[in-house]
Amino acid sequence: RAKELGRNRSCFYSGDMQTTALTKLAVEAALSRAIERRELLLHYQPKVDAASGRVLGAEALLRWQRGEQGLVPPGQFIPLAEQSTLILDIGAWVIDEACRQIRAWMDQGLPLVRLAVNVAARQFAAGDLDTVVADALHRHGVPAAHLEVELTEGMLVTNPEASAAILHRLRALGVKISLDDFGTGYSSLAYLQQFPIDALKIDQSFVRRIGDEPDGAALVDAVIGLAHRLRLRVVAEGVETATQRDYLLQQHCDEMQGYHFGRPAPADALQALIASQGQASAAG
Ligand code: C2E
Ligand code: MG
Ligand code: MG
Ligand code: MG
Repeated sequence: RAKELGRNRSCFYSGDMQTTALTKLAVEAALSRAIERRELLLHYQPKVDAASGRVLGAEALLRWQRGEQGLVPPGQFIPLAEQSTLILDIGAWVIDEACRQIRAWMDQGLPLVRLAVNVAARQFAAGDLDTVVADALHRHGVPAAHLEVELTEGMLVTNPEASAAILHRLRALGVKISLDDFGTGYSSLAYLQQFPIDALKIDQSFVRRIGDEPDGAALVDAVIGLAHRLRLRVVAEGVETATQRDYLLQQHCDEMQGYHFGRPAPADALQALIASQGQASAAG
């Protein structure tokens, strides 16, 4: 995997400007065909209830199975897709695929509560996110409460009135709304009360510092306090150790996500995890 990352990175950051431009064009051309070639796929990472450790849902994370280049992570192609309208097609595909998967899990009787999808800034700025979401829910016969969208602070503050309108329409559908990577943007806190938001996701860079240094957990504490004061749920991302988990639990963080609980993986892995939980509770 390190080798795969290294190879792709060298394409983007080659010192040779001409090579870089050509590579960018080639990647863009390949990416523009990725949907019809069925090269995009979603991996799923569990979100667990902090108190019980039970899986409450999952986050869908996009991957590109690019022929011989292997599985490409989103950080290596989403920024490029965001430079054109390609991101709109990709974003709509992600929402459709997430709904298709929720429907499949419902049909199998899997007790999955919620699936979250990430939304790109340009996709949100297009202004029709609620329509794209409503269409996909309808197409697959999925109740809106099973879907959650993850946005970032920066998307909301560029055009607060338009953003609020979209969020209210999503909320009216019954879709849940989370703020991802919370604390890393530098917007005013006032907007938290202006927008209908259900949850804050504490950025993993804050979680990583728990136990590291005397005041390492200060930002985690602050976000949990703020969220609860505003009656929002709070989710910690990037939880990798038992120390981090124990600390977050002690601080009453509501949900957790991270390698400690499960890495992003294909649908059947999440399915197996949830099914094994069901059996454990049925047995005991
Ligand atoms: P994100 O939404 O904040 O997702 C969390 C990222 O952290 C994921 O990386 C996940 O694999 C990784 N992660 C989860 N737990 C841990 C942990 O315990 N330790 C560490 N070190 N990392 C952990 P990934 O899958 O590479 O995604 C990176 C970013 O790409 C996402 O950050 C999100 O902003 C974006 N992204 C992913 N899927 C989509 C998508 O469908 N559409 C859009 N627009 N963006 C996406
Ligand atoms: Mg996310
Ligand atoms: Mg995040
Ligand atoms: Mg992130």
